[in-house]
Amino acid sequence: MKDEDVAGDLPNRKEQASTRESPLIPSPSSFDSSRPTWAEIDLGNLVHNLRVTRASLPSRCAIMAAVKADAYGHGAVRCAGALEQAGVDWFGVALPEEGLALRSAGIKRPILCLSGFWEGQARHLVRSELTPAIFSTASLEALSHAAQAERLVVDYHLKVDSGMGRIGVTSNQLSSFLDVAERLSSVRMDGLMTHLACADDPEKAEFTAKQLEAFEAAARSVQARGHHPRWVHAANGAAARSLRPIPGNMVRIGGLLYGIWRDATDRRVPPLDWQPVMSVRTRIVLIKEVPAGAPLGYGGTFVTERESVIATLPIGYQDGLLRSLSNRGKVIVRGKLARIVGRISMDLTLVDVTGIEGAGIGDEVVVLGQQGERRITAEEIAGEAGTLSYEVTCGISGRVPRLYEGPQNGLP
Ligand SMILES: *Cc1c(COP(=O)(O)O)cnc(C)c1O
Repeated sequence: MKDEDVAGDLPNRKEQASTRESPLIPSPSSFDSSRPTWAEIDLGNLVHNLRVTRASLPSRCAIMAAVKADAYGHGAVRCAGALEQAGVDWFGVALPEEGLALRSAGIKRPILCLSGFWEGQARHLVRSELTPAIFSTASLEALSHAAQAERLVVDYHLKVDSGMGRIGVTSNQLSSFLDVAERLSSVRMDGLMTHLACADDPEKAEFTAKQLEAFEAAARSVQARGHHPRWVHAANGAAARSLRPIPGNMVRIGGLLYGIWRDATDRRVPPLDWQPVMSVRTRIVLIKEVPAGAPLGYGGTFVTERESVIATLPIGYQDGLLRSLSNRGKVIVRGKLARIVGRISMDLTLVDVTGIEGAGIGDEVVVLGQQGERRITAEEIAGEAGTLSYEVTCGISGRVPRLYEGPQNGLP
């Protein structure tokens, strides 16, 4: 975004509907009956991002696609469908219910529940062939119990805490964990994993190296006790790009697949050709001319300095347009940047289109994504709002319909 291109002061405007249509807009009849605010998900770019990432990794390295949180807001079922077809090896979800949704939709590849499971979910886990990350003896026992009831031996990935301080068995607890594991014959350690806290930060390379040392020590202990996990993994997207050699034989990547990386990877490592997958669009529903000195929106936090042309957009913070972008954020109208003015409200937002020639009711407005030569990235929005790009896409709420484009629409 460049400031000089923000709507200027020409009060010359015609009220007319835009004739430019996005190729993905539903038929005009369905638009007549629904709010014109939508997200487009480019599954072609998703698969492209998988391919360029895969090409940068050693061939022995498998890829787990993180599709938790509804694939960072992109729609887990469709994204997983497209990724499965493109040959991804594993899926990572946070919750068993996210894994169940993928299984119900026909996803066949192994699914790891990265945050383990809750009491009462063990049976569903076993029946749906979901693999949990395990970081407590209690959950290992619950898993074993459920496996026994189904007369199965069930795989799990042992998660060790190598320095993140979050979920994971610490090096102190490892030996007693393995004592319990030894007694349980219905569970099998098929994976060993840890999570790196600072893989995107070159200043913390030493800390990352310490984490990897701790992880290697854990791997030696586990092997010495007779476990031979097939999958050993530590790297998220940032580490998959910057760490060499890659620890273990699998990487777990999320953001890179969705084309969001500028605020989540090590800046010193050149990026690959990752393309954004999500865009968010809406249309102008109302235009009004207001005099200088007019307060706009809740609290009147913006007061026009000049005679202005103000457009109302049918999108608000409930849709995921972060309220912290009030009086800060920008959108694209007719290929030009227009400033968000006043407080973003729950369902509506005002933008200043003064001087954007021809701006009128029905014009497509880009909140996230590209129009003509101009683009607003999730990273830019996040920077403006003081957060991370992941929160921007995760935050696009269920009220915003997703329209899918690309290989078989990602249907499994
Ligand atoms: C989400 C997640 C990842 C993926 O992280 P990205 O930064 O999106 O690549 C990897 N590992 C775990 C444990 C995760 O929860």
